[in-house]
Amino acid sequence: MSASASSPGAALKPLRPGMFRLPDRLDAPVQLLGGRCRACGEPFFPKRTYCAACTSGDQEDVEFAPSGVIETFTIVRQQLPGSAMVPPYAIVRVKLDDGPGIQTVATNCDPESIRIGDRVQLVAHRVMDDEAGNTVVSFMAQPVKPA
Ligand SMILES: [Zn+2]
Repeated sequence: MSASASSPGAALKPLRPGMFRLPDRLDAPVQLLGGRCRACGEPFFPKRTYCAACTSGDQEDVEFAPSGVIETFTIVRQQLPGSAMVPPYAIVRVKLDDGPGIQTVATNCDPESIRIGDRVQLVAHRVMDDEAGNTVVSFMAQPVKPA
């Protein structure tokens, strides 16, 4: 059964507003909305009011490029209470190329094939449909196949 079917007129809605720039279609690259400390250069996602590295309050908003490398991962094999995710799937820690490390779920891949050091792209992926029929999306990590 396909999980990507959507009715005409259904809109994409972010799972959590303000976390990423919502693309106009599923599987499109997603840029995370984060912050960077003007005093020491440390990047953050989500953005912070005060720098965790140097405590400066001089923070700027940045959009991180949707690409990075898997630093570590774990495979979830049991259904978690309240989770819309169907196991097995991989939770991955991704170091963004121009940003901080973030945690998300791997998508559009066999979780058993994931390796530390794999390159990934952050893409918009369906989480569920809401009561109004909108497609609720979040960012997930899609492995980049070597050419
Ligand atoms: Zn700082």
